[in-house]
Amino acid sequence: MTRSNPVLVWFREDFRLADNAALSAAVGTGRPVLCVFVLDAATFPGGAARWWLAGALRALDAALRAHGGALHVLRGAAGHLIPELARGSRAVAVHWNRRYDPAGRGVDAALKVALRQIGVAGHSFAGALLHEPWTIRTRGGAPFQMFTPFWRAACAFGGPRPPLPAPADLSFAQLPETFEESRVAPAGFGLLPATPDWAAGLREEWEPGEAAAQECLTRFLAEDLAAYGRERDTPAAEGTSRLSPYLRFGHVTPAQIWQAVADSGQEATKFLTELGWREFAWSLLFQHEDLARRNLRGVFDGLPWRTDPEGLRAWQTGRTGYPLVDAGMRQLWRTGWMHNRVRMVVASFLVKHLLIDWRHGEAWFADTLVDHDPASNPMNWQWSAGTGVDAAPFFRIMNPVTQSEKFDPGGDYIRRWVPELAAVPANLIHAPWVAGAGALGAHGVVLGRDYPAPIVDHRQARARALAVWTALRNG
Ligand SMILES: Cc1cc2nc3c(=O)[nH]c(=O)nc-3n(C[C@H](O)[C@H](O)[C@H](O)COP(=O)(O)OP(=O)(O)OC[C@H]3O[C@@H](n4cnc5c(N)ncnc54)[C@H](O)[C@@H]3O)c2cc1C
Repeated sequence: MTRSNPVLVWFREDFRLADNAALSAAVGTGRPVLCVFVLDAATFPGGAARWWLAGALRALDAALRAHGGALHVLRGAAGHLIPELARGSRAVAVHWNRRYDPAGRGVDAALKVALRQIGVAGHSFAGALLHEPWTIRTRGGAPFQMFTPFWRAACAFGGPRPPLPAPADLSFAQLPETFEESRVAPAGFGLLPATPDWAAGLREEWEPGEAAAQECLTRFLAEDLAAYGRERDTPAAEGTSRLSPYLRFGHVTPAQIWQAVADSGQEATKFLTELGWREFAWSLLFQHEDLARRNLRGVFDGLPWRTDPEGLRAWQTGRTGYPLVDAGMRQLWRTGWMHNRVRMVVASFLVKHLLIDWRHGEAWFADTLVDHDPASNPMNWQWSAGTGVDAAPFFRIMNPVTQSEKFDPGGDYIRRWVPELAAVPANLIHAPWVAGAGALGAHGVVLGRDYPAPIVDHRQARARALAVWTALRNG
């Protein structure tokens, strides 16, 4: 081996140069780096996240090119391709930042074995979380099941390690010619929707990449953090950070956010607690690989979910007749993101008003969210459904009308996403069916023609859910 033998840096969900432990350690060896990403069908994300992935690949390639290198995007099974590339490029080591989802962990464990067999060192690094998911434990050494003691213990554990700067002196190895045929064409990497192109709203709303993530963080700290505790539940205010897709794709790390918050000198307990929920979700997924498939509270296995394709479709397309629910579902479809308060309302509506299995909602979110996260999504669905370990009780049924009156009192969020109700005043917009045909007609709306009548009656749906719950509890 000579000093020109490279270190292969395998990027996955860590699309950044700063605070990238795998990259920094590779550069620190003084050897050239060979930067690769493998498009592997085994770990493919949902539709909206695929759109984001294309942007993330483009942005990282551009950042590496600015240093004289490139990101080589290859198609194949990572478990085979990475060892082959390590051998073909005569790499001394392969570096990557750890993933903690079951599919990712499976690939990584097999890869370590395969690399050992060919005599190449495999080094994995931390970076996606404040603390590795196995570190925060009870005094007895067990994983936590409840958020509050988990977060208390995490905070007592100390702040995260200080974030690393982006490496300055990068030198790059070439991709061996024999791998050219595995290379994916950079125009969209085959990830963008074509017929139809449903991504216009995503393009308008988002800019993937590390630089955009830093801009988003800086703007949030300067403009919104001070009022976060007050505004975070108001969907029309856009008072949350919108960092979730940047965290999901590792354009920014929670350690960088933690540090930036500390540097800003602002009080941020509530905001940092939300990062804590993300940590808790990963701790749960680490314990329960089937978090997206199995009710954590087994008693719910006996719940008689309804089969209701029409109801599911009305929910997915934002045509339930409940304006706040419909606004949220349309925001999701158009932009790949939905405000947290509204996520809770739409999830409760699907599970309790329609009695549709939470796993259908989880799957729809997995396909349509740009921030879809394999830990946060199922944990929050199980929270909403009451099936999780630390969850809202099933009998607490959110009323979509009172939630709307409380959190969107002026109706501005609804008007933005449900334009057919744009002329309806605040006193009628939360429950338009109550207004009567005359009052609504005066604002140009006929129920059933311009906007749907409610697909279920709130009182009846609530009573039905409670009856199901009572029967389940009584065995
Ligand atoms: C049914 C349902 C499904 C969800 N699915 C996802 C998902 O797939 N991916 C995802 O990142 N979040 C998910 N969330 C959590 C939350 O809605 C989003 O993290 C939040 O809306 C993102 O917006 P933000 O970045 O402006 O959040 P902020 O309020 O600015 O919070 C900062 C960060 O904290 C984390 N965070 C905030 N709330 C939560 C939470 N409840 N659980 C876990 N982490 C949280 C996120 O990383 C977020 O970016 C879901 C919530 C519900 C109710």
